[in-house]
Amino acid sequence: MAEPAPMTAAMEMKPASAFVEKTPLERYVAPVKPSLVGLSRADLTDLLARLGVPQAQRKMRVQQLWHWIYFRGFTAFDAMSSLSKELRALLAAHYTLERPEVVAEQVSVDGTRKWLLRLPGEAQGPGLGERPHEIECVYIPDSERGTLCVSSQVGCTLNCTFCHTGTQRLVRNLTAGEIVGQVMAARDRLGDWPGGVRPHDGVVPSGDRCITNIVMMGMGEPLYNFDAVRDALAIVADGEGIAISKRRITLSTSGVVPNIARTGAEIGCMLAVSLHAVRDELRNELVPLNRKYPIADLLEACRTYPGLSNAKRITFEYVMLKGVNDSIDEAKALVRLLKGIPAKINLIPFNPWPGSRYECSDWEQIEKFSQVVFDAGYASPVRTPRGRDILAACGQLKSATEKLSARERMALRAMSMVE
Ligand code: SAH
Ligand code: SF4
Repeated sequence: MAEPAPMTAAMEMKPASAFVEKTPLERYVAPVKPSLVGLSRADLTDLLARLGVPQAQRKMRVQQLWHWIYFRGFTAFDAMSSLSKELRALLAAHYTLERPEVVAEQVSVDGTRKWLLRLPGEAQGPGLGERPHEIECVYIPDSERGTLCVSSQVGCTLNCTFCHTGTQRLVRNLTAGEIVGQVMAARDRLGDWPGGVRPHDGVVPSGDRCITNIVMMGMGEPLYNFDAVRDALAIVADGEGIAISKRRITLSTSGVVPNIARTGAEIGCMLAVSLHAVRDELRNELVPLNRKYPIADLLEACRTYPGLSNAKRITFEYVMLKGVNDSIDEAKALVRLLKGIPAKINLIPFNPWPGSRYECSDWEQIEKFSQVVFDAGYASPVRTPRGRDILAACGQLKSATEKLSARERMALRAMSMVE
C-alpha cells in the first residue's frame, strides 16, 4: 500500500485512537440534492446550461466553479465570491458539494489514518433504495510524502485467497464522484486546502501538501470500474484543481488484461500489478482471475504498456506467504520472468486477518528473497506494513457494513502485533 517509511520515536509513542462513530446508521438521512463533486468540466457546462446560464458565460463560470470546488475545496456555494448571488442561490437550491461523510476515524500508532466513509447520493444513482454503503480510505504519512489509498468498489468481485476485501459479499462500483470524494474528504480532514489547518494529533509530511500521492489500492479492482476510475483520476490530476500529477498516481490491478493498455492510453498513471506467484498453477489459487488471464498474457500486456520506460516502470507486487510462494527458486524465477520489462518489485509482508489461511513469511526468508531480487538489479523495497493496529494495511480493508465483531478485531490486533 505504501513505500517503506522509517518509524520515528514520535510515531511509536503515539497511542492508537479509539474507533468513534459519528452518526449512527439508524439516524442517517440520505441527501436529496445531488453533489457536484466528481463532475467534469463538460458535466458542469451541461449543468449550467440546464440552469439557464447563457452560453456566452458558461466557460467562465465553469472555470470559476472548478476553482472553488477543486482548488479551494469549498463545501458551500454562498462563499463563492466570483459567482453572482443569483447563481450561488440557484446552485444551492438544486445541488450540494457533499463528499462521503466521515463516520469514523482511527489514527494508528505509526500515524496512519483510516477513515470509514459513508457514501452520499444514496437518494440517486447506483445506491438508490439501498442501505448507505460504507468504504474505507487510508492515509499513510511519511516525512517526505503523504499517500492516500483510495477504494474503487464497495467490496470486490474477485476472491484472492489472501485478501480480506475479497471475502466481502456486498459489491458495487463507486461513481467518479465517490472516488474523487474520498480525496476531497481526506483533504478536508487534513486541512489540506489552501489556508487549511493541519491536524495537531498526527504525522504529516514536511512539504506544503499533506496528500502528495494517490494509490488505487483500497477496496476493489479498479479495472473492473474503468470509466469511473478514469474520469475520477482525470479530475484529481487536473492542474487547475487538486493537481496530483499522474506520475504520483498508481493504479494497482490483479491483472484485468484487456484494460491494461487502456489504463496507459486513457488514464496515463503509473501501473502496479499484483503478481504474487511465478507459476500459473499457484497463481490460479492465489489470484483466481489468473484462470482467465494467465501469467504469460498478463506479462505481455505489461511489456506493451503505453508509456513504459526506465523512468516509468511497472511495479510488481508480491505478497510474501510462508511456505507458499517465498522460496529462493521462486525469487530466481521471478527475476527471470520479468526480464526485459522496466520493473520495480515490491515485496509485501502478508497482513493476516481473522480466518485467513496463510502466514507471513519469516523475516529472514523475506530478506533472502529480497537479496536475490536485489542482486538481479532491482531495488526491492519490502513494504513496511503500516496501520496494522487499525486494520488499515493492504488487504485488511473491509467496510463496516460488514463490521468485524469486537472479538475478531482483537484477534486481528493480536495477530498483527506478532512480527
Ligand atoms: N484489487 C487491486 C487493488 C487493491 S489490493 C489489486 O488486487 O491489485 C492492493 C494490494 O494489496 C494488492 O497488491 C493486493 O494483492 C495486496 N493485498 C491484498 N491482501 C493482502 C494481505 N492480506 N496482505 C498483504 N497484501 C495484500
Ligand atoms: Fe480484489 Fe485486489 Fe483483494 Fe484480489 S487483492 S480480492 S482483486 S481487492
